[in-house]
Amino acid sequence: MTDANCLFCRIAAGEIPATVVYQDDEVVAFRDIAPQMPVHIVLVPRTHFSGLDGLTAQTAPLIGKLALAAQRIAGELGVAESGYRFISNCGPDAGQTVHHLHFHLLGGGPMGGRMA
Ligand code: 5GP
Ligand code: ZN
Repeated sequence: MTDANCLFCRIAAGEIPATVVYQDDEVVAFRDIAPQMPVHIVLVPRTHFSGLDGLTAQTAPLIGKLALAAQRIAGELGVAESGYRFISNCGPDAGQTVHHLHFHLLGGGPMGGRMA
């Protein structure tokens, strides 16, 4: 299921250009347009839903697939040993701006203080 008005659905479909670093039948990963770290990848399921708050038992396995893709990309981009973060912003207080579930893979340098 996709949403024709959704930016990340359109990137996943190849309708809007992005630098894709990994894709398979269910997951697409691409470079963030405004990187906050030397490595900043956005990982999305091809299926559209709003975010973690829209997750169901049916879509929950996608989280594992996104995590495995992040692990693989971290290795390919050379941050597996130096370390990385895998985070999802959900809702206004977390600063979510695109309402299609996504995770950020961040790495390539120290990220400072604790966030959790
Ligand atoms: P959020 O703030 O919702 O957690 O993350 C959305 C992310 O999508 C932001 O880091 C933002 O820079 C990125 N982004 C927004 N528009 C585009 C775009 O058109 N292309 C790419 N590659 N990233 C985008
Ligand atoms: Zn979407």
